[in-house]
Amino acid sequence: MGERNFFDDLEGMDRKEREAYQLEKLKEQIKRAYENSPAIRDIFDGKGIKPEDVRGFEDLEKVPIIRKTDVIELQKKYPPYGGLLTVPEEEIQRVFITPGPIYLPHQVEEISWFGKSFFAAGFTKGDVVINTPTYHMSPAGLLFHEGVRAVGATVVPTGVGNTDAQIKTMLDLKVTAYAGMPSFLMTIIKRAEELGYNFRRDFKLRKAWFTGEMLPSSMRKVFEEEYGIDTYQCYSVTELGGCVAYECKEKKGMHFMDDYVIEVVDPETGKRLKEGEIGELVATPIHNPCWGLVRFGTGDLTSYITEPCPCGRTSYRITGIVGRSTEAVKVRGMFVVKKQMEAFFAGIEEISKYQVIVERKEQRDELYLKAELKDESVDKENLRRRLEEEFPKNLRVRLDRIEFCEKGTLKEEDTLIDRRKWD
Ligand SMILES: [Zn+2]
Repeated sequence: MGERNFFDDLEGMDRKEREAYQLEKLKEQIKRAYENSPAIRDIFDGKGIKPEDVRGFEDLEKVPIIRKTDVIELQKKYPPYGGLLTVPEEEIQRVFITPGPIYLPHQVEEISWFGKSFFAAGFTKGDVVINTPTYHMSPAGLLFHEGVRAVGATVVPTGVGNTDAQIKTMLDLKVTAYAGMPSFLMTIIKRAEELGYNFRRDFKLRKAWFTGEMLPSSMRKVFEEEYGIDTYQCYSVTELGGCVAYECKEKKGMHFMDDYVIEVVDPETGKRLKEGEIGELVATPIHNPCWGLVRFGTGDLTSYITEPCPCGRTSYRITGIVGRSTEAVKVRGMFVVKKQMEAFFAGIEEISKYQVIVERKEQRDELYLKAELKDESVDKENLRRRLEEEFPKNLRVRLDRIEFCEKGTLKEEDTLIDRRKWD
């Protein structure tokens, strides 16, 4: 496999051209799925939809979202591939297994996999990369391995764990780059320090490509500033067979991968949301011809931006994964994401304990804050003004009321409480 300039492939394509290309691919995917996959035919017939009814991206709203739990159920109903296989079984090249279990068939050579993401992260020929995810059952190790090879770099398949062996390998092979989870790289660095090494001086590692967990900005700062490692994130979803979005040098959001039709939708209605609105990331793979999945709901919450990126890639970007749809509450049409809210309050030092409560009053959602203060001497009016201003900036909804209460008042442990009754 030679070096490939992925940028020339699709990434720099005019938006209209790419949309036309993706729409063609989407229609092919839906037709193939409907004709060959009994599960998709059931779903379409159940809703009275024909593949021809999907003429534009917005018509996808007619198609129900399939989530991981649905795939598990489907695989019980139509073992082993859930009625989603679109080719004869002997055409499958490999099968990965993820918890559920879900059996994921792949047809390898049709797929560009993770190459674009490693390319955007500056991985190139001459790099020596330790690839630290697992190589068995789950697709991570092998797919990242192929991505690293696609940009011409040398891959060392070290797999999971064995921190000391990873460290010895890094020194002996003068490893320049890392692929895997951010927390594991931090474990490696801390262990190397324990062993008496000076990481910056003794190691050649200067690039890291992360997926599989969030990269908090505080951690990124430590990697970049203290250890001189250029870090990149990739958002990948196993059931979708790979990399769904990835960062470029700008590190401002993750570019949509061209191999999927990506939507950000209201998880309850499946309706597509506007730029900037938080919703569930739903993707339809248009690159794995043996897998008839249409509109897979990831359960991950994000928003997207359309602003062109200075890197020249013309695809839209997701702004990052802010939480899970099961851990968010919809208030006046906007999702308040628990994790995002907790991050916000972590920055308000004066508050020691708090609860954000949603109630329904006169057909309107009311959102209010109850907060215990660290210290009674805090300037309450000042804090109130700050919260009124900063909360909507960070969470996109306004607080209707702010109540400061005495220490020990807040009994419930949960930070986000939905008291609305829908009857
Ligand atoms: Zn970019």
